[in-house]
Amino acid sequence: MLDIKWIREHGKLVQTVADQKGIAVSIEELLVWDETKRKLLQEVEHLRQTRNKLALDMSICVKTEELEMAEVLKKQGRDLHEQLSTLETELANTEQQFNKVMMLVPNIVSPDTPFGRSDADNKEVRREGEPFSFPFELKDHLQLGTLHNMIDISRGVKTAGARNYYLKGAGVFLHRAVQQMALDLLVNRGFTLYEVPLMVRTEALMNTGFFPTGEDQTYRITGEDKWLVGTSEVPLIACFSNEVVDVSEPIRLASVSTCFRSEVGSAGKDVHGLYRVHQFAKVEQVVLCEGAVEKSEQLLQEITQNAEDLLQALELPYRVMAVCTGDMSQKTYKQFDIETWMPSRKAYGETHSSSNLLDFQARRSQIRYRAADGKLRYCHTLNNTAVASPRILIPLLENHQEEDGSIRIPKALRPYMNGIECLESET
Ligand code: AMP
Repeated sequence: MLDIKWIREHGKLVQTVADQKGIAVSIEELLVWDETKRKLLQEVEHLRQTRNKLALDMSICVKTEELEMAEVLKKQGRDLHEQLSTLETELANTEQQFNKVMMLVPNIVSPDTPFGRSDADNKEVRREGEPFSFPFELKDHLQLGTLHNMIDISRGVKTAGARNYYLKGAGVFLHRAVQQMALDLLVNRGFTLYEVPLMVRTEALMNTGFFPTGEDQTYRITGEDKWLVGTSEVPLIACFSNEVVDVSEPIRLASVSTCFRSEVGSAGKDVHGLYRVHQFAKVEQVVLCEGAVEKSEQLLQEITQNAEDLLQALELPYRVMAVCTGDMSQKTYKQFDIETWMPSRKAYGETHSSSNLLDFQARRSQIRYRAADGKLRYCHTLNNTAVASPRILIPLLENHQEEDGSIRIPKALRPYMNGIECLESET
């Protein structure tokens, strides 16, 4: 959430960013509600003061036995009470309308964010490793998964519907190995591990900026004010809501969680294999730091580098993309996506997403710290994927396949795979 005082002075800019991000919100409407709210608040305050004064005068009249005057004041008090409650209702309604629009207002974007309408307009920043050229006919991850008896989509669909799967045997080992490797890397770099609630209240999703825009992407628990999380970023940030935190050192948090996503709007897109599914596991990095843009920008580089180091350890070619305005979410100030080479798609596919949110989430969540001048300020928050599986299994299996279908395990992953150097195909 942006500061309304700031929006009043930068309405045009905020409207431009909303348009660029494709968010349907009218800043003009917001400012009308804001103005009405402020006027009503003034009137309500004024009436409350008058009411208090009247009550005082009345008690004096009663004490001094000026009963006729007391009766007059009592009648005035009743009229005032009626007037006040009408205005208070009007104020509450106006505040509700104001908040409804305010929750749609996007974060601003960094000056170096490329302008664009969709992911096709994202700009490549750097590339690491070259896509391998295979001197034999490639198998895709599903063919390899069948060969190794480790991925079963059809039974996943039988049990749970489209975009579901089973992992089995070596598939489960690989899935868990990459997660543990990511967690170890983060712990070694000063991150604290969290096990988090996967069902959260609406408030947590609102405060972290996932709602109201992402409501249709989220599974609701019937009959309760609770939803299944699509990322552990939500419970990690919500953990600190309404608190004053110590960010003299950035708070670095890591969690591995199941993520649930309805993927509404993606019908017909990425239907092959494990790319886009309803349930996956993600190791997430979340950072809270002081509200200084140079600090959070430095941390954005740090958490992006963590993901890159992991991909390099997995010996996978990737590229880093600066995400454009039209491909950014409401809450994001600056974003890099990392795309890893997926031979079967003959393309890079998104595997990581690294974002700086400035104080957008912290303002909504009321997460503050005491700054050097003694004042309470909002933190900056950041997040990035460390690894998301099973999507990462696509490049992992496909890039490390041999002609006979066996799969070479990258050296850095072997300690997490009981030392196995190569998965021999079962057929
Ligand atoms: P996000 O939290 O949306 O930034 O996504 C982070 C990463 O999670 C993506 O880069 C993917 O690797 C993975 N991911 C997101 N959505 C899905 C999905 N529906 N199925 C599989 N993996 C996903």
